[in-house]
Amino acid sequence: MTWGFETDAEYQKDLDWAEELVRTEIEPVDQLVEHAWDVGDPVRNALIRPLQEKVRERNLWACHLGPELGGQGYGQLKLALLNEVLGHTHAGPVVFGNHAPDSGNGEILAHYGTPELKERYLKPLIDNEIASCYSMTEPQGGSDPTAFVTRAFDDGDSWVLSGQKWFSSHARFASFFIVMAVTDPEADRHRRASMFVVPADTPGIEIIRNVGVYGHDEVEGTHAYVQYNDVRIPKDHILGNRGEGFAVAQTRLGGGRIHHAMRTVGLVRESIDMMLERSVSRKSGDGTLADRQLVKTMIADSWIQYQQFRLLVLQTAWKIDQYQDYRKVITDISAVKAAMPKVLSDVVGRAIQLHGSLGISTELPLGQWSAEAHHMALADGATELHQLQVAKQLLRGATPAPGLFPTRHKIALREAAELKLGDRLVSVDDLVGAE
Ligand SMILES: Cc1cc2nc3c(=O)[nH]c(=O)nc-3n(C[C@H](O)[C@H](O)[C@H](O)COP(=O)(O)OP(=O)(O)OC[C@H]3O[C@@H](n4cnc5c(N)ncnc54)[C@H](O)[C@@H]3O)c2cc1C
Repeated sequence: MTWGFETDAEYQKDLDWAEELVRTEIEPVDQLVEHAWDVGDPVRNALIRPLQEKVRERNLWACHLGPELGGQGYGQLKLALLNEVLGHTHAGPVVFGNHAPDSGNGEILAHYGTPELKERYLKPLIDNEIASCYSMTEPQGGSDPTAFVTRAFDDGDSWVLSGQKWFSSHARFASFFIVMAVTDPEADRHRRASMFVVPADTPGIEIIRNVGVYGHDEVEGTHAYVQYNDVRIPKDHILGNRGEGFAVAQTRLGGGRIHHAMRTVGLVRESIDMMLERSVSRKSGDGTLADRQLVKTMIADSWIQYQQFRLLVLQTAWKIDQYQDYRKVITDISAVKAAMPKVLSDVVGRAIQLHGSLGISTELPLGQWSAEAHHMALADGATELHQLQVAKQLLRGATPAPGLFPTRHKIALREAAELKLGDRLVSVDDLVGAE
């Protein structure tokens, strides 16, 4: 039996190296690059490409992927530990080749793409020469896939897509989109849609606007409201079989969710570090904030939540490595996904509070991290849907009580115990008599 909580010494050296790179090179780059995903930005390329080269030389590039995809085959547990180091940075995941949505889109292409599609898109995507976009949510609703209306029509040797998508992140940087569209409206709810690769330069793709999110001070947002106007793509640009769109989506969403959680662990850790620094620095009465008991409880509660969440994330990553099948850990991933926004919001909220007005100002990153909690509560599925998944799985294994009272009803248990063991019971009179 193995049940350990230690990082092996060799990999710890890699983590220490990554931490050093974050502090000395990536954090400064974060101040100068608007979008680390924008592969067309020369400033970004001048600053980020040399760092990516260092990561490659250290054999940490996309290290969670197998060698056939250019990685080291380190898997999810090692990625989780690495993402703890990168999680609070903007550019870190891009520098290390494990950033969303490209890593998830790469997984879909690797599983379901034709050799031609892989040749054209997968290698350059993994090498971060190009970017990609995942286009599933629609303006009339993301949580309920039965409400999706974007259609793909079979037209001889092509598919023709038409409809609208909402919050298609990074569409404006992307060379291709992965789009879910309804091919079989009459089919069973989870067999209605299929998944397609749509090259970004295909005529008919119109970005209505690039929506921003609060907490980001970018000039133009990155979450595209997209119109597909009779967009014609070759027949072999379908991913998986017709009607398998939801199954294909799970290939990407499982990884996407746990990767967000890994990075969130890093954000929470950094928030606690900031809280500690502030507590021992800020004068309060004869001492510092750290001397106040209410401040101590804020610190302790934050650390406890952090550790609980971190262990859940690491255990889930470990399970993914064991089973090599996201479907077998779908409930664990949902639990992580549902826990994530609250932990982030609680801890960052306390860090803001301890920093006072500075905490909520744009001079610290805490306000933006607080907004991230809302991002994490929505992207890749709303919290409530993941809570439902956890409850559904647990209830599946539950059995009804045998009678009127629950199994652990104490009076009923005592009656049963007396029936079973009564002849062995000794009365007080017997004991007195025995003396
Ligand atoms: C920063 C960010 C990036 C994103 N990037 C992408 C992307 O790249 N590609 C993409 O396709 N999508 C993306 N999304 C969209 C995301 O997947 C959706 O926001 C999410 O699926 C919820 O859909 P919705 O926004 O339409 O909310 P709705 O479906 O309208 O739901 C709104 C709220 O209603 C409640 N609710 C809904 N259904 C239930 C239920 N069954 N039970 C209980 N409560 C319920 C929940 O509180 C939910 O938050 C992104 C979102 C964000 C915030």
